[in-house]
Amino acid sequence: MPAPKICTLFTAAALLAGCGSSEPNVGIDPGAPPTTNASIELEAPERTTEPATQTTEPPAMKAPSVAWYDPEAEAECDTDNVGEDKGPVRVIYRVDEGELGEVCLGEDVPELREAWEALAELTTPEARLGVRLYAGWEGNEDNDLLAFATPTFEAEGGELSIIAVEIDQTRDDPAEARLTILHELAHVFTQTPDQLEWHLDPDECGDTYWNDSGCTLPDSYLNRWVEDFWTDDQVAAATEAEDRDSVGAELCEIDSNFLGEYAATHPDEDFAESFSAYVYDLRVAPAVQDKIDWFGQFPEFAEMRAAAANSDQEPPPNSFTPCG
Ligand SMILES: [Zn+2]
Repeated sequence: MPAPKICTLFTAAALLAGCGSSEPNVGIDPGAPPTTNASIELEAPERTTEPATQTTEPPAMKAPSVAWYDPEAEAECDTDNVGEDKGPVRVIYRVDEGELGEVCLGEDVPELREAWEALAELTTPEARLGVRLYAGWEGNEDNDLLAFATPTFEAEGGELSIIAVEIDQTRDDPAEARLTILHELAHVFTQTPDQLEWHLDPDECGDTYWNDSGCTLPDSYLNRWVEDFWTDDQVAAATEAEDRDSVGAELCEIDSNFLGEYAATHPDEDFAESFSAYVYDLRVAPAVQDKIDWFGQFPEFAEMRAAAANSDQEPPPNSFTPCG
């Protein structure tokens, strides 16, 4: 079984660079610092203690904040927000308050609608609030990208995002597509304004994790994830990498604490891969179990896993290759 064909893009500008390509996005991301990863030694950290969350009462999590959600805000229903370099865009749907709305471009694709409905069956509307467009494109002759998520061009930050999906692969392997779309949703809900302060440079973050797009907030999912599972050197190597794939391959080879090479490319990918495996309760290597269990401290994620267990959805194939 091939590795999941997944991708994330952190800036709309990067969209133009062609996601899924192994070409470095040199000079594309305006926030990228000089690439110095060659001098960074990657080491597997000592893990002698359990994450605190395993043994103590989970910290009280504030209710999902929706203060940033503006029902009047509209992302442009335009192929520019998908990028036609991957193939023709066949459909764009609006998403309002986390629910799939009308087709605003092209024609309905039932398999895409079904994939969204499967996502909606498992996830809370709050988790989907940042998604405002859902699109399908067709044709992947030059790469095997299955889906991506990115802020739309109108977005100030992560409050107006798009999830786009390749139609043929979604038809051919709907279970893999469901897993991948869930992965993409994780990128969206970890970068909404209650989670991330966009467009800041690393030196403006203080002690919180800078994820290429901005500074994560202290209580955000991603900041807590990085505090619990990533060393400073690993974060630096990932966020400064010119070639993320090689950083992921190197880290995966020496550290069994990752759900495959793709997860090891970047903390955000690690989070998204582990989150989707958690929700679908996929079997993972023992070294990764702490990461999977981590999500259980948040009632909103536990609710999603329970919804998956109670659904009729066939679990996606487990295509993660072990690290270490
Ligand atoms: Zn991703």
